[in-house]
Amino acid sequence: MKRRTGQDRSITASWRPATLAVRGGTARSEWGETSEAMFVTSGYAYDCAADAAARFAGEQAGMTYSRLQNPTVEMLEERIALLEGAEACRSMATGMAAMTAALLCQLQTGDHVVAGRAAFGSCRWLTDTLLPKFGIETTIIDARDPQAFADATKANTKLYFFETPANPTMDVVDLRAVCGIARERGVLTVVDNAFATPALQRPMEFGADIVAYSATKMMDGQGRVLAGAVCGTAAFINDVLLPFTRNTGPTLSPFNAWVVLKGLETLDLRIRRQSENALAVGRFLEGRVARINHPGLPSHPQHDLAMSQMAMTGPIFSLEVDGGRAQAHALLDALRLIDISNNIGDSRSLMTHPASTTHSGVAEEKRIEMGVSEGLLRLNVGLEDPADLIDDLDQALSSIGL
Ligand SMILES: *Cc1c(COP(=O)(O)O)cnc(C)c1O
Repeated sequence: MKRRTGQDRSITASWRPATLAVRGGTARSEWGETSEAMFVTSGYAYDCAADAAARFAGEQAGMTYSRLQNPTVEMLEERIALLEGAEACRSMATGMAAMTAALLCQLQTGDHVVAGRAAFGSCRWLTDTLLPKFGIETTIIDARDPQAFADATKANTKLYFFETPANPTMDVVDLRAVCGIARERGVLTVVDNAFATPALQRPMEFGADIVAYSATKMMDGQGRVLAGAVCGTAAFINDVLLPFTRNTGPTLSPFNAWVVLKGLETLDLRIRRQSENALAVGRFLEGRVARINHPGLPSHPQHDLAMSQMAMTGPIFSLEVDGGRAQAHALLDALRLIDISNNIGDSRSLMTHPASTTHSGVAEEKRIEMGVSEGLLRLNVGLEDPADLIDDLDQALSSIGL
């Protein structure tokens, strides 16, 4: 029995995002459970040996081994694909597994990649260290300037890889312009959309080819599990990505997939409220600290661009104090409500000093070049009452003389 599941695209095609977030991808077992079942199994049994052979030959529908398929994991993949407006999605064990697979599944020695310089620390490690090790050349550019992508493109350029807004400087990439430049040159775009999620920004609507996620962040949204996802055309996912992931094994566990399914049910509510809270906290901090990088505030140099491609600007922004690492650490140490933590997308407010945590693995000169100064702090604004967050920041700033 599989009545009215959320997997029949002829039915889900007309569903709006809020409906998809709750029901998209749901497949019911013979018990007709309302909430998605967690299938904690590594393998599957067959009625007869011929069935096993047929399933391995791809002649019979069904599952063979949870590195390759799992019902709970597939529900999540279908839900993310529907929310993204993508033909297909493959989930991964972590966001970094998603980024690594999205790049390595389609690159080979002799290829060239153009990547944004403001990026998550491990994404910079992929482009600066891992790819060159395999003879894949990378050019790092200021992704705020679409022309920089065009100028860096060569005959062997295969991919543009960037995130927007970028971690932690909140640089914004002009999706329409950059994806347009890529299309003209036959280059594929891989967009890390972790900060916005499909609830706020859908890069494929602007021409992106592949959208990759850390689902650890806003999709789980409650700081519980690690997960990742890659969205693209069915041809890309099935013919290019799947052979890579099925054989290398960065598979998401059914438990983590189930937790993210539950997270997606409230993604829209959470990200909208957290965006509002982040704006309130940002407005309070503006003028009180030396600098604030918040794409939702008119002071952000790319505010208009951000508002033209995002529904709201999300829970994350960064700020800068003039007193370097000592003052930034003192501010963190004075907090009483907001946690010192390097995670983001959590329903709790968290603050971190990127230069000594998330970006400590990036060489100092590269950190400075990408805007990760010693006085930079990144804030994830949660679902608490923003007045309490403002009170906490107010007392912490006062205690260090700001
Ligand atoms: C966190 C993050 C990642 C890595 O995701 P994990 O789930 O921690 O592996 C990649 N890109 C961005 C923008 C992130 O914020």
